[in-house]
Amino acid sequence: MRPGSRPSEALKSLTSALGLLREPVPAEKKATLKRRWEALEPKLRYPTQGLGRQATGCGATVGAQPRCDFDCTSCYLGEDANLARPLHVDDILLQLDRLRQHLGPKGNVQITDGEITLLSRDKLIAILCHARKIGLIPMLMTHGDGFRRDASLLPALVRDGGLMEVAVHVDSTQRGRRGYKKVADEVALNPVREEFAGMIREDTSRQGGCSCSCKKPVGDRSSPRGLKTCPRSTSRSRTSCPASTPWGTPPATHCGTGSGDGSSCVLTGTR
Ligand code: SF4
Repeated sequence: MRPGSRPSEALKSLTSALGLLREPVPAEKKATLKRRWEALEPKLRYPTQGLGRQATGCGATVGAQPRCDFDCTSCYLGEDANLARPLHVDDILLQLDRLRQHLGPKGNVQITDGEITLLSRDKLIAILCHARKIGLIPMLMTHGDGFRRDASLLPALVRDGGLMEVAVHVDSTQRGRRGYKKVADEVALNPVREEFAGMIREDTSRQGGCSCSCKKPVGDRSSPRGLKTCPRSTSRSRTSCPASTPWGTPPATHCGTGSGDGSSCVLTGTR
């Protein structure tokens, strides 16, 4: 039981832990893993292949909020993205339902598109709650400035949406961050990384569970205060994450929805 947790929360955590001990991998997940393994080309079934053994893949929302208010030099968005309207929230929930069928229970889903936090708070919470309700693990991918503009947003997503994972993209290719319109190098962005880490720490101590991802400059071995290296990062990943919590280092797992360039990772806390 975590320090400060209420008895009902403690009972829920205990029941959940016992359930995990009884059945670490549910039958449905096992069947999904088997299907994924069988669908792999034989030449890809090498000894360290995780797909079909530990993972069923991961997914992402498409069209949830195509617009972005940054103008990064290496943006992947199309030229018309800022003219596109977000899909109706029901269509996003349908995407999640389909992803749940494909990924099985506890499938990792990135809630993303352009800048997802430009969606209204109610819609974001509805998306997060639905993902949780159907047994997915949602991770919000954002440039993070929405949390700086409105300090109540992240706590509300954690409290009302059950958000446990957030990936904040910070690097020097970005254009539009308040106070960091243009920076000389990656190190110049460390204060904003500290700022996000502080938000996560604060929210973790207040609500007992959130998670984070942060990017740090290549070759920079320092960590913002209180951040620890992701236990799952490799020597190539050059990544650190705010894993410190009032109760110590939380169980950490890689969400599998990182940037693909090995420079970001996600730690998950517990609730
Ligand atoms: S924050 Fe992301 S989506 Fe927005 S402009 Fe930058 S790279 Fe593109």
